Amino acid sequence: MSLRLFNSHGRSLQDFKALQTGKVGFYGCGPTVYNYAHIGNMRAYVIDDLITRSLRYLGYEVTHVMNITDVGHLTDDVDSGEDKMLRSAIERNKSVLEIAEFYTEAFFRDTGLLNIQRPTVVCKATEHVQDMIDLIKRIEANGYTYFAGGNLYFDVSKFPSYGDLANLNLDAQQAGARVEVDPNKKNPYDFVLWFTKSKFEDQALQWDSPWGRGYPGWHIECSAMSMKYLGEQFDIHTGGIDHIPVHHTNEIAQSEAATGHKWVNYWLHKEFLVMSNGKMSKSAGNFLTLQSLLDGGYEALDFRYLLVGAHYRSQLTYSTESLDSARASRRSLNDRVLALRVKQGDTSLPAAFSAAAQARLDSFRAAIEDDLSTPRALAELWGALKDSQLSPAEALAVAFNMDRVLGLGLNDLKADSAAVVDPELVAKVESLIAERLAAKKNKDWAAADAIRDQIKSLGVSLEDTPQGTVWKPLGKA
Ligand code: AMP
Ligand code: ZN
Repeated sequence: MSLRLFNSHGRSLQDFKALQTGKVGFYGCGPTVYNYAHIGNMRAYVIDDLITRSLRYLGYEVTHVMNITDVGHLTDDVDSGEDKMLRSAIERNKSVLEIAEFYTEAFFRDTGLLNIQRPTVVCKATEHVQDMIDLIKRIEANGYTYFAGGNLYFDVSKFPSYGDLANLNLDAQQAGARVEVDPNKKNPYDFVLWFTKSKFEDQALQWDSPWGRGYPGWHIECSAMSMKYLGEQFDIHTGGIDHIPVHHTNEIAQSEAATGHKWVNYWLHKEFLVMSNGKMSKSAGNFLTLQSLLDGGYEALDFRYLLVGAHYRSQLTYSTESLDSARASRRSLNDRVLALRVKQGDTSLPAAFSAAAQARLDSFRAAIEDDLSTPRALAELWGALKDSQLSPAEALAVAFNMDRVLGLGLNDLKADSAAVVDPELVAKVESLIAERLAAKKNKDWAAADAIRDQIKSLGVSLEDTPQGTVWKPLGKA
């Protein structure tokens, strides 16, 4: 097998072929730093981390670029509304740059707690305005722009494949169906490349440009910065599914209008995290942050565990129950690793894998290569830890290898002897769980129940989860 990815452009699973052998250029749209990132946003960044880690695991040298939007993102994607940064600064009585700095720091604190590896390049929009101006000049020179009402617009009618990514049917859309129409636009899909006519008297951040003093439209930053760090054509671009119809559609149009050739080869779009009680929204002030989970007594990696267990293209519904269940499974996983550490004793991790261990790793790799199936990869990790054919040292070596992708911090677990479960008990419970599973398979419910009681009599609690039966000694948190 080799890596296959679902390309939103064309909507199909495709074999991944890097532009340059062994190297991947990867751009993922980053945060707008006007408020704390919510746990939905964090899902998007954990997924980008899983993508980078997977590619590195598969042997690619990855350059991962993430932008920080600290200017130009309006409260509406379609050029109307206020600048998110400015609004936040006014509300908090701070300067725009103070706001940006504060929330950027908060963002990277969260990503650190979630074991998200720092992208190779983190670039701020405000530090790349000249790159944006240079790119807009190329778009203008190629005849794709018009100036109206003080702003420079991209003319979508000049770009025949506009909307391909989203399968937009431009003719079927009535002007104004999506948003209030800007009277300066020739076509409702046209978008601003450069604003000089600020909606606010006191637009805080402004730059000189050939079109007058002003500030960039939101979309141009991603085109300019990705090309600066990855070249005019690169392999993978990601973002949330919400970015397909406007932000990414506009990024493609302006990038390809500037260069005259294809820009991105694979578009990966990440599904949303939704709340069981409705949509999470930063603008509406209704959202959970990672800090609120920590305040509730969870660890950041409990949340990462929950995310790893869902495929990036599936919507994930968040609830306290789902996080509780992830926490229980993760504790049981950690206990298992710690118990193996005790059993391992002084034996060092093996330098080479046995056939049984290699088979586990092969299945894990196949899961990753199958459009990054992290739920299957997680099941493979559990399988390896439960595999009685593997010696403790070997099971640990396999688990640590897999954790290079999953990022659950297994290798950092400290064998606090008070916390480690007696390996004899682990062996006993594991063999009874296997017997109970066999009884269930044979539909021998009476035997299965009897075994469950026998397990409980050893002083442990049991929970059946989609990843298998999870257990822990009673009285252990
Ligand atoms: P923003 O900081 O608002 O620009 O959003 C940052 C990223 O989070 C974008 O890639 C969005 O697509 C993504 N995003 C926003 N809301 C959610 C959500 N509820 N679940 C998952 N991703 C989201
Ligand atoms: Zn972007």
